[in-house]
Amino acid sequence: MATKYGFSDVREALVEDLKGAYPTKWEDFEAARVLGEDVFGSPKPHPNAVLNLFLEQNIKFTLPFAAYRACLGGPPALVSDAPGTQLPRLTLASIIHGAGVTRRMMTHAAYGIVYLRDLGVCPDRLCLLNVSVSPAEGRKEALKKISDVIFERSEGDMLSPLSFGTLVCVGCAKRLEKAHLDCRKEFVWAVLPCLLGWGGWEGV
Ligand SMILES: [Zn+2]
Repeated sequence: MATKYGFSDVREALVEDLKGAYPTKWEDFEAARVLGEDVFGSPKPHPNAVLNLFLEQNIKFTLPFAAYRACLGGPPALVSDAPGTQLPRLTLASIIHGAGVTRRMMTHAAYGIVYLRDLGVCPDRLCLLNVSVSPAEGRKEALKKISDVIFERSEGDMLSPLSFGTLVCVGCAKRLEKAHLDCRKEFVWAVLPCLLGWGGWEGV
C-alpha cells in the first residue's frame, strides 16, 4: 500500500524493519530476535505469500531468506494453492532445485563433521566417542549415531543449532557443535542465494 500510494518514507521504514528478519549475513541471522514471517505479527502470513509480496515489490535482499522460509514448510507448503500462496512456476522450480543443493550440502556437512575432522578417541568412559579406532566396528556405530543427529533434522533446516549433548561428553559436544556452526555459516554464505538461482550474494 505504501508503494501504491507513494508513501516512500513509510515504505523505507517498512523495508528497514525487514532487514533484521530477513538476514543476508550470518551475523545478522545470529543477532535477529524476530525472523521471517514472524515480523508481520498476528495472524502470521504464509511464507509463500510473503515471498510473493517481496517478489512483487522487488525487495531483492529479502528473497533468499524468504525462499528459505518457504522451503522449510516442505513440498506440501511449497505447492500450496490457497489464495495468495501460489508461487510463480519459475520461482517454485528454482526453490526445488535449491532444496536439492541444500540437501547435498547437508550430506557433505555430515560427512565432513564425522569423517574428515579428526574426532579422536575420547578418554571419557561415558562418551560415545570412547571407542578406539581399531577394531573399527564400535567406532563405525558411534560415528553413524553422530551423523544420524545431523540427518534427522526437519526438512532442509540448516540454520538452527544442533545438540550432541545426549550422545557425547561436554568437550566432544562442543567440538561437534563448533564444526556444525561452521557448516551453518557456510550455508548462509554459499547456498542461501542459490535458492532463487543466484550464484552468490553479489547477485542479490
Ligand atoms: Zn568425549
